Amino acid sequence: MSERQREQVVIIGSGPAAWTAAIYAARASLNPFVVEGAGSRTMIPGGQLMYTTEVENYPGFPEGITGIEMMAHFKAQAVRFDTRVVTEDVVEVDFSVRPLLLKTSGGTEIESDTVIIATGANAQWIGLPNEERLAQSGGGVSACAVCDGALPYFRDQVIAIVGGGDSAMEDALYMAKFAKEVVVVHRREELRASKIMQDRAFAEEKIRFEWNQVVTDVEGDDVITAVTLENTQTAETSRLEVGGLFVAIGHTPNTEFLAGQVVLRSNGWIETPVSWRTETSVPGVFAAGDVQDDYYKQAITAAGTGCMAALDAERWLAHGGVESVTADTGAEG
Ligand code: NAP
Repeated sequence: MSERQREQVVIIGSGPAAWTAAIYAARASLNPFVVEGAGSRTMIPGGQLMYTTEVENYPGFPEGITGIEMMAHFKAQAVRFDTRVVTEDVVEVDFSVRPLLLKTSGGTEIESDTVIIATGANAQWIGLPNEERLAQSGGGVSACAVCDGALPYFRDQVIAIVGGGDSAMEDALYMAKFAKEVVVVHRREELRASKIMQDRAFAEEKIRFEWNQVVTDVEGDDVITAVTLENTQTAETSRLEVGGLFVAIGHTPNTEFLAGQVVLRSNGWIETPVSWRTETSVPGVFAAGDVQDDYYKQAITAAGTGCMAALDAERWLAHGGVESVTADTGAEG
């Protein structure tokens, strides 16, 4: 059997939470090891910000910064303090043993005293080729209105929002501040959103609804120009000219590799049972960023919880991995 790599802190992920955790852990001389993810068709190292164009709401960048540049800065800052990084996935964990055990897609087995899970969440996309291309190129397609919606590009345009949940209503209300008209495209004739959000959306005169409709095509070379809608009842198609498309059909937290070894909430996000702490159900395993946050989902909040996870891991190690346990799971400490 090949020798196992031995670590104090392994951080899984490469978004704002992961790199912030790495910066704090590195500066605490914990020599963190980051498994940043190998990348796939739907996610690349750096996380969701790699699909965002201009980031204008992250404090400290008065002129804005692209998501890609921002994540390069985050990573460079972590590496500056000797964070080590491998561009692989964690494919398997065994949190029933001490030290904790992880296996990467490159076949490396890593033993670690603590693990910080910061693997984020993937926005769900409709799955159309042009949708993905224009989302990646900043061509007016996005899965985050709060991130991208205030860009001058979207002002006074007709904006389509896909989805019928609270996120879609929130995005529609947000975009109504800038857009000429907001068209909510929903596949049924009843919204999933909470009553209060529905009421707010119905009361906003700039918002109208296309019921029983799905988007089957996205048009545009450099920027989106129109979407094709198909009626789910009649199969009739129509064309809607738009200057922006926001897809708000949910997120999926990236937890499959945990294979049930960490307690998740009923909606699939990692449970951090103690308020304002990042401990999970497994002592020594911490969670930060969107993999444990289905509510705020912002780069700045992810970075904040990344900092918290590193401090929690540091304290856990300083107390010999015992006294800082606040989450009772029955697992061995
Ligand atoms: P969600 O509640 O799961 O709603 C997703 C919506 O997208 C549903 O209306 C669904 O349609 C639709 N959808 C799913 N897949 C689709 C597809 N392939 N094509 C077209 N439509 C599709 O997700 P969410 O809105 O992101 O909300 C997630 C959680 O966060 C919820 O618990 C929500 O209450 C909460 N949240 C709260 C607030 C707030 O209170 N201000 C804001 C945002 C989110 P169907 O309805 O037909 O399934």
